[in-house]
Amino acid sequence: MKFLCVDCDRQMAFDERAVPGDGTMAAVFRCPACGRKTAMLANPMETQLVSSLGVKVGGRTVPNENFEGIRAGVDEARDEALPAPPLTNPGPVRWSVEAVERLGHVPSFVRGMVKKIYNEYARERGIEEMTPAVMDRARSDLGLEGM
Ligand SMILES: [Zn+2]
Repeated sequence: MKFLCVDCDRQMAFDERAVPGDGTMAAVFRCPACGRKTAMLANPMETQLVSSLGVKVGGRTVPNENFEGIRAGVDEARDEALPAPPLTNPGPVRWSVEAVERLGHVPSFVRGMVKKIYNEYARERGIEEMTPAVMDRARSDLGLEGM
């Protein structure tokens, strides 16, 4: 918003501003060419309106909206990446000392895969601790007699 001096076709310069404290606002503009003054007065409601508009305009810029769009897209992608099937025992399976020792007999190049199979077997059944007994059951249930 700016004020123009009609006679000089010049933009009037901001001269002084008064905020008396009762909610009103007064601003005086002066033409730099002829010195004519004009004043803008705003009542408390208008002053409040201008203030709240200023806050809104400052807070809702185009870059912010773009950023929100990007964030929403990232959130969706992250949700899709999450494993879908809910597990009975989603926490890590504890391995007893005996189970770890038994796993040690598995050839090292397949040990990680075998451990994963046992962990999945335990989690699907809500078993919190891996023991040789659980491993025996898993092997017969899954047909993994050689492991
Ligand atoms: Zn003027």
